[in-house]
Amino acid sequence: MEQLRIPGPTPLPPEVMQAISRQMINHRGPEFHKIFQDITEKIKVFFQTKNDLLILTCAGTGGLEAAIVNFFSPGDKILGVSIGVFGDRFISIAKTYGANVIPLKFEMGQAANPEAVKKVLQDNPDVKGVIITHNETSTSVTNDLKTIAPIVKDAGKLLVVDGVSSIGSIDLPVDELKIDVAISGSQKGWMVPPGMVMLSVSQEAWQAYANAKMPRFYLDLGKAKDKLAKWENPWTPAVSIIFGFQVALDMMLKEGIQNIFARHALIAKTAREGLKELGLTLLVKDEKIASNTVTGVMGTNGLDTKKLTQIMRDQYKIVLAGGQGALEGKIFRIGHLGYVSVEDITDVIANLKLALPQAGFTR
Ligand SMILES: *Cc1c(COP(=O)(O)O)cnc(C)c1O
Repeated sequence: MEQLRIPGPTPLPPEVMQAISRQMINHRGPEFHKIFQDITEKIKVFFQTKNDLLILTCAGTGGLEAAIVNFFSPGDKILGVSIGVFGDRFISIAKTYGANVIPLKFEMGQAANPEAVKKVLQDNPDVKGVIITHNETSTSVTNDLKTIAPIVKDAGKLLVVDGVSSIGSIDLPVDELKIDVAISGSQKGWMVPPGMVMLSVSQEAWQAYANAKMPRFYLDLGKAKDKLAKWENPWTPAVSIIFGFQVALDMMLKEGIQNIFARHALIAKTAREGLKELGLTLLVKDEKIASNTVTGVMGTNGLDTKKLTQIMRDQYKIVLAGGQGALEGKIFRIGHLGYVSVEDITDVIANLKLALPQAGFTR
């Protein structure tokens, strides 16, 4: 069987595969209400929040769009911190809806510099909010939100965090960091299929919502909150994914949030050390900012990364990801989040050792 080692979609546990193949139920009926309440409350545990937690039926990008259109108005000044493709995407969405974005971009493979964020906020007292990626999947860098969040909140700004590929896998304590809006996606660390996003919304964000004038309908979080009082969605939700979520969340709770974070940290460390032992060069040199859910590897020593991902897929049945944006053809990436073990990653390393010479790599 093929091993899927990309940063989303991620593999499903057999228990989840069984759950999502259940017969349909009425999404306005009592059984659904119970399940929807159950998953909403359990997802909050992994967001580490008491804020409202809303679930939408869409890709992660829909969650980013919801996080813009519900809290801002055209012309609002937004500081857009970007360290890669997903940070750039967040900025593009804000611009599309007429926000006046101040982009603060860092080189791919680097983390955002907290002092630079502070400086822009000092120079622009009229900034309304800051949008930032927690874990930049395109470069395998995790931003230091524990340092950046207090800078943003001390300046009195709305803090909107793309935690699509980190929440539930890497520690992001939403309430402790006073994150106003945090977004995650079902297909990343949650062991369920793509198609749902989860957003936490603070009181301060709801105040911003009351005055926000960007157009919205399907992604209107006010409508989602109203329906949540009945444990329903405004529109027909992805019922099958919700069945799967119930099972996946129970597995996650059984393992324990701290154990899940520790497992991802150990797997990532195993991946980095194994890759370096093979003579490969990691895109991220600084261990402190290296992601625990994805690892990017450079095409050095004659390595053709595109050829490598093809060989790994066709001959070794392991699906790896290529580079995105400016890193296309320059790196390959290993996804190691969700339903994954240390053994899974040592197996990837062992197979890479065989495949590397076939893709032009010499030590
Ligand atoms: C995957 C991902 C997204 C959303 O991707 P979709 O393809 O729209 O689901 C957003 N941000 C980050 C950091 C991601 O990893």
